[in-house]
Amino acid sequence: MKKLILDGNVVAQEMKEDLKGRVESLKRNGVTPCLATILVGNDPSSETYVKMKGNACKRIGMKSIRVHLPEETTTEELLVKIEKLNNDPFVHGILLQHPVPSHIDERKAFETIAIEKDVDGVTSAGYGQTALGFGEYPSCTPAAIMKIIEFYGIEVEGKHAVVVGRSPILGKPVSALLLNENATVTTCHSKTTNLAEILKQADIVVAAVGKPNFIQGDWIKEGAVVLDAGYNKGNIGDIDYNACYEKASAITPVPGGVGPVTIATLLKQTVESAERDMRDRNRVPQFRQA
Ligand code: NAP
Repeated sequence: MKKLILDGNVVAQEMKEDLKGRVESLKRNGVTPCLATILVGNDPSSETYVKMKGNACKRIGMKSIRVHLPEETTTEELLVKIEKLNNDPFVHGILLQHPVPSHIDERKAFETIAIEKDVDGVTSAGYGQTALGFGEYPSCTPAAIMKIIEFYGIEVEGKHAVVVGRSPILGKPVSALLLNENATVTTCHSKTTNLAEILKQADIVVAAVGKPNFIQGDWIKEGAVVLDAGYNKGNIGDIDYNACYEKASAITPVPGGVGPVTIATLLKQTVESAERDMRDRNRVPQFRQA
């Protein structure tokens, strides 16, 4: 069977080329798209992710502001920082790097991000809009998975999609997006009792578990499309790649699959926020003297 490697770098490159032109056009109109990232504590992986996102902004001409708060930051202190960024007219998108230290109320912090700056799609309002099919900024990894599906012309309508994982930023929103595209969706989680049996019926598999090499090759139906959102220590995905490759008709590698498209999606949604900001400014009524 012919295999299709779903190359996220190719998808991301095309997205970023398009964004460069849009950033230039915004700058000519006096608006520089700006993403603010907030990192709390010193988790090395989180530091790397935040740095990668900041560098990605710079490479396409965007601005990024990095707010790095100490480990002992309280929820209240974090909320104050978020509010400040909400009220900063030069900031178009806010990303709070997940996870925050366990003493912080992460949900409360996410909910404090203004919806028009929630370019990472973490607020409950953003999730609700995504689920209802009119969300401006879906959560980035789910949106990236849908972008890969669209880019490679993978048929979704009428297919059985099985999502393994139900987190608010990944499993649940990607299930909603697949449902909006008329897939029949099954969402599995840690209490699912017959995971292998369910996966064997899947035309499309989305792995969002957070466990290295978790999805086994003999759980995959011959010819299924396999999308691996997992990103574990040592650049290892949530699927057993070599074994799943044998069965799949199309598959995302790790690294170089969903990850680069997630970052490109974050940039795209920040640029869209800046474009909306510019349109709103131009809509301000012009007062002329009589
Ligand atoms: P998470 O919040 O830890 O959620 C993991 C989900 O997997 C939960 O819903 C959990 O079920 C489920 N699960 C755990 N063990 C299971 C089992 N034995 N069988 C079935 N389901 C099981 O993780 P996340 O934030 O969604 O991230 C998932 C993965 O995606 C991680 O590898 C993460 O690094 C990666 N990720 C990648 C990107 C990217 O840009 N590529 C972005 C975000 C996340 P319960 O709900 O029952 O606990």
